Amino acid sequence: MRIGAIQKFSMIDYPGKLSAIVFTQGCNFRCPYCHNPELVDSAKFLDPIPKETLFTFLKKRVGKLDAVSITGGEPTLHKDLPQLMKNIKKMGFLVKLDTNGSNPEMLSKIIAESAVDYLAMDIKAPLEKYSQITRSQVDTLAIQRSIQLIKKSGVDYEFRSTLVQDMLSKKEVLQMGSLLGNAKRYFLQKFVPSKTLNRDFAEATSFSNQKMDNLQQILQNNFQEFAIR
Ligand code: SF4
Repeated sequence: MRIGAIQKFSMIDYPGKLSAIVFTQGCNFRCPYCHNPELVDSAKFLDPIPKETLFTFLKKRVGKLDAVSITGGEPTLHKDLPQLMKNIKKMGFLVKLDTNGSNPEMLSKIIAESAVDYLAMDIKAPLEKYSQITRSQVDTLAIQRSIQLIKKSGVDYEFRSTLVQDMLSKKEVLQMGSLLGNAKRYFLQKFVPSKTLNRDFAEATSFSNQKMDNLQQILQNNFQEFAIR
């Protein structure tokens, strides 16, 4: 496990809970609009934070925080992720995992071992456009398997998509919604200009409010919970 950073407190990352956030280093995707280049581009990696440092910090937060969110990068690249999550749960924290869905084997293990309380998976594109949008070779069968695993897991979950103007059309976003079938939660996230993996995207914009409103009208009835955030 390579821990790149720890955010000590968040009121928004784990739904309804106070959490800390653990950021892992390394990702198998190269989304050009990624906001965490220092966790994706190995040339930008800082020395990893030892696990002992994380657990020393968490011991002091027992009773003060409800949960720990694990994000990246892509956390499922790290073989010791399930054990780390179980160790955090043993301390009494809820555990949330963010994933790009590329590793259904790891997701299956985490679910089977009851190592997770909340799963959040990014949906990057319609299947046929996944490799283009993520600038990576993507096994789209793995993405589909992860979606099904999460829906059937019995674990609370959400799917979410970040929308960058000109990367996806309205029709493609609707295809992404269809990919999720009758999923419980789907959130569309407006891209916010910031530091990005590909600097050409630093000043990219999100979909217009009108386009977002239009997508909301079409998609909101397909899910138990749907929101734009
Ligand atoms: S946005 Fe893309 S490149 Fe960045 S961490 Fe997520 S999956 Fe990896």
